[in-house]
Amino acid sequence: MASTKHDPDSATSSAWVHMEEVHRAPEPEVLAPLIERARLGREERDRIEARALGLLAELREGQRIGWVNQFLQEYRLNSSEGVALLSLAEAFLRVPDPETADMLISDKLGDGDWRSHAGKSHSGFVNSATWGLVIGRALVGDRKQANALKRLISRSGEPFVRQAIGAAMRLMGEIFVMGRTIDEALKRMKRPEHKGFTASFDMLGEAARTFPDATRYFDSYMWAIEAVGAECDGGSTEDNHSVSVKLSALHPRYEVSQWGRCVPALTERLEALAEAAAKAGIGLTVDAEESERLEMSLDIIEQVAELPSLKGWNGFGMAIQAYGKRAQRTIGWAEALASRAGRLMPVRLVKGAYWDTEIKMAQEKGLRDYPLFTRKAATDVCYLTCARDMLAADSIRPAFATHNALTAATIMEWAGPPGGEGSKDFEFQRLHGMGEGLFEDLVREQGYRCRIYAPVGGHRDLLAYLVRRLLENGANSSFVHQLADEHLSDDQLLADPVEKIEAVGGTRHPSIPLPEDLFMPQRKNSRGLDLEDWRVLGRVTEGTAAS
Ligand code: FAD
Repeated sequence: MASTKHDPDSATSSAWVHMEEVHRAPEPEVLAPLIERARLGREERDRIEARALGLLAELREGQRIGWVNQFLQEYRLNSSEGVALLSLAEAFLRVPDPETADMLISDKLGDGDWRSHAGKSHSGFVNSATWGLVIGRALVGDRKQANALKRLISRSGEPFVRQAIGAAMRLMGEIFVMGRTIDEALKRMKRPEHKGFTASFDMLGEAARTFPDATRYFDSYMWAIEAVGAECDGGSTEDNHSVSVKLSALHPRYEVSQWGRCVPALTERLEALAEAAAKAGIGLTVDAEESERLEMSLDIIEQVAELPSLKGWNGFGMAIQAYGKRAQRTIGWAEALASRAGRLMPVRLVKGAYWDTEIKMAQEKGLRDYPLFTRKAATDVCYLTCARDMLAADSIRPAFATHNALTAATIMEWAGPPGGEGSKDFEFQRLHGMGEGLFEDLVREQGYRCRIYAPVGGHRDLLAYLVRRLLENGANSSFVHQLADEHLSDDQLLADPVEKIEAVGGTRHPSIPLPEDLFMPQRKNSRGLDLEDWRVLGRVTEGTAAS
């Protein structure tokens, strides 16, 4: 087990040590200093709220045309039908043979009360889909009344329901994926609806399972860099399209236990991609993934950022997740690294896309505490604190990825108008298929920049990404989901996260007990070892060797 190469006296290493302090610390303790930095003055808050209300109207108008949110509004993830559909979507693309696909559909559609959703949505499309599910359930179930229809369908020899579900998945894929190939995606970016926006193309295919897969993904990133570079007209990296990369796609054993093996190999692969991107004059951003990979990714990013061959290129960036307790300190780390390397580093601030998995993993392993916040408002507070730090940093070029009108309005208040005296240059970012309407006017009329994160790939590689998008769009706590909820007023939607967190003293969410209390009052959960932490792993390895 290799340890990190960090020198305890260096600026980035001290930030690293501070990160460890908060990694699994109690939520109120981590939040206390963040709250102060995110707090707004009365007048500032009024201005932000007024601007957010305007953005809200534009976002609502933009969302009217999309059907996914309305679909997820009807089939909520806390209903059995919503869960059945999500697990169907999750598994369907992975099933290799038609017989098993039919059994899966029958299993998932069989228990749902689809008829109770009939005609309930404002969207005609969603209501049609509901009738599709009612019929589908009748066809795959064994109810007597369906038999005549069933016989009719089977006589036509058509795998009717399977084909319909396959078509629905393709339709959903088209909403969230920019194109099957980079050429298709580049072409789609030229459509009028993307006028004024830049894109960051992500080649779908995270979590490579084999070396041939990792090589295939590496080649597709390299090809994307060349294709995007060829489209650029020589402007600065911030004016050009860019590429986003997931390290997990580039090595099949991107795991802490394999640090000594995967970190050098990944550094080499990322170096090659970064050099190609620098040569092409475009940006390259390293996406943020699961929390246990954070330290490995920082090790890799640090080595690449310090490469002499990349001097003078300000396009090498990284994403940071505000739901993580280490977020603010990672920003301090990035600022120290960029200033030491003498470069401007683009940092994309996101809230984080792996929340459900992270919570579940910590519970399953019986760990001390969670690596991320358990209340949505806590993540919002942390996001604002990080945003303030990024706007104040000298060596960070901030990118704020959000579809939340209140978050966007707060950033606009703090950064000042584009090109204004004392204003800070930054860009907004949104996902393809989400947040339509929020940024169009800001980009085309008011001079703001916005980049669209544009996944590229075929159905084979779509699955993990699609499930994250469905979870995000369907979660009760999600801003875009709440936007479509008629029971929520604008005041509730735009409530101040600092006030929300102060009202509960920054405590953990009551429905999310500590992993050790998961089965209380019956019994304590068994306590696990955090083998994804290299310090613990090192101690276990030494202890085992000594015994
Ligand atoms: P909001 O509705 O305001 O926030 C939703 C977010 O709040 C959830 O996603 C979650 O992070 C957090 N949350 C929800 N419930 C809770 C809770 N109970 N406790 C604590 N926190 C909670 N994600 C990555 O992980 N890595 C990336 O590299 C990445 N790249 C992205 C690039 C772009 C351009 C964009 C737009 C998004 C990217 N994402 C990435 C996804 C991103 O994390 C989500 O889109 C984002 O969290 C949505 O935030 P919001 O402000 O739009 O919505």
